[in-house]
Amino acid sequence: MRIDCQCGSKALVSRSECDDDSTTSLFCSCSKPECGHSFILSFGFKHTLSRPQDCNTEARLGASVKGTRVYCSCGERAHINKTNNLSTNVADVYCSCPSCGHRFVMFRAFSHTLSPSALTTEALTMAIIRSVTPSVRRSLQQQLSLF
Ligand SMILES: [Zn+2]
Ligand SMILES: [Zn+2]
Repeated sequence: MRIDCQCGSKALVSRSECDDDSTTSLFCSCSKPECGHSFILSFGFKHTLSRPQDCNTEARLGASVKGTRVYCSCGERAHINKTNNLSTNVADVYCSCPSCGHRFVMFRAFSHTLSPSALTTEALTMAIIRSVTPSVRRSLQQQLSLF
């Protein structure tokens, strides 16, 4: 699956870590050098849409995430059919298993930022500079000229 940074560029997953049976944390970093945003996404199994054909028992159904791949509880790699963005930070990921026919939904949520995007920091700094009084701006200029 493709993971996007908030700046719109593709993000790379450096590693994934299982928090418990159902939730996995993905460590992502933006591929755009000017951005440099690194963050954690939470991935987890939400619910089953349709049970596997030959599954009559109340066997525990689930799925897990390894890197950017989703694996069905039968061990096969599941297909991602679509991603439904519920908000900018939360999405439902619809998956199906080609092997057993299990169709299910995973949730993807933005957990937290590890190091902020330079683009955001830059925009924030510019906004601050624009909002200060001319005298503060002058002393800021003097401060900056020392670097
Ligand atoms: Zn970015
Ligand atoms: Zn399966």
